[in-house]
Amino acid sequence: MRRKLVAGNWKMNGVTASLPEVEAIAAAAAANPGVDVALCPPATLIAPAVAVASGMPIGGQDCHEHDSGAHTGCISAAMLKDAGATLTIVGHSERRADQNETSHDAWAKAAAAHRHGLNVILCVGETEAERNAGRAERVVQAQIEKSVPEDADGSWLTLAYEPRWAIGTGRTPTLEEIELIHAIARAKLGMMVGAEKAEAIRILYGGSVTGANAATILAVDNVDGALVGGASLTAEKFVPIIEAAA
Ligand code: 13P
Repeated sequence: MRRKLVAGNWKMNGVTASLPEVEAIAAAAAANPGVDVALCPPATLIAPAVAVASGMPIGGQDCHEHDSGAHTGCISAAMLKDAGATLTIVGHSERRADQNETSHDAWAKAAAAHRHGLNVILCVGETEAERNAGRAERVVQAQIEKSVPEDADGSWLTLAYEPRWAIGTGRTPTLEEIELIHAIARAKLGMMVGAEKAEAIRILYGGSVTGANAATILAVDNVDGALVGGASLTAEKFVPIIEAAA
C-alpha cells in the first residue's frame, strides 16, 4: 500500500518573510499523519525552513551531478544534504526547458542525490505539441527509460508526471488521460526494475493541482500524490490539498 505524498515546489519564490507559511504548512502536515508532506523551497531557504518545519521533510528543487567543483551557481546533492534537505526534485520540465536539461542529466542528478542519501522526485511529462501529435505516452516512456536509475526503488525514488502544458496554466488532463499515463509509467518502471519494486514507487501527478481538483485527481488509479507549484506557496491554498490526500 503506497502512502500518498503531497509535495510543494516553490520554484523561484520565497524569502525569509515566507517562513511563517512553512511553519503553517508543517503544522498541517503534523495534523494529517495519514499523508506524507514535503516542501521544496528555493535553496536559500532550505536551512531556515528546516529550522521551522518540525520534522516535515524539506527538499531542493535540483542538484548538480557532481559533489563539488568549478560549477558557478550550481548546488550539489552534498550541499543540499548539508543544509538539512532530505530530498530533491530533479528533471523538472522548467529545468529541461530553461537549462536544456536532458533525461540523461536527470538520471545523473537522481543518482547523485541517492548517493548522498536524499530521496528523489524525478519529473517527466510531455509538451503540448507532443500530446497533440499523439506522442505523450511514448515521450513519457522514453523519459523514464533514460532518467530512472537502474537501482531505483520506492524507498528513495518517486516519479512525478507533470505534463508541461498543465503547469501553471489552470489546465489539466482529463482523469482518463492521467490514469492512462500513470498506468503506462508504472508498467515501464516494472520493465526496468521489476514489477514488485515498481509497485512500491509512488507516482505523483503535477500541473495545476488546486484544493478544488485535488480530491478527484488523487482518487485516480496509480496517482500516489501530487507535486504542487503555485498552490503550495501559501498554507491557505496548500492545506486543502494536504487534507484531500489524507
Ligand atoms: P503548478 O502547480 O503551479 O501548475 O506547478 C506544477 C509544478 O510544476 C510543480 O513542480
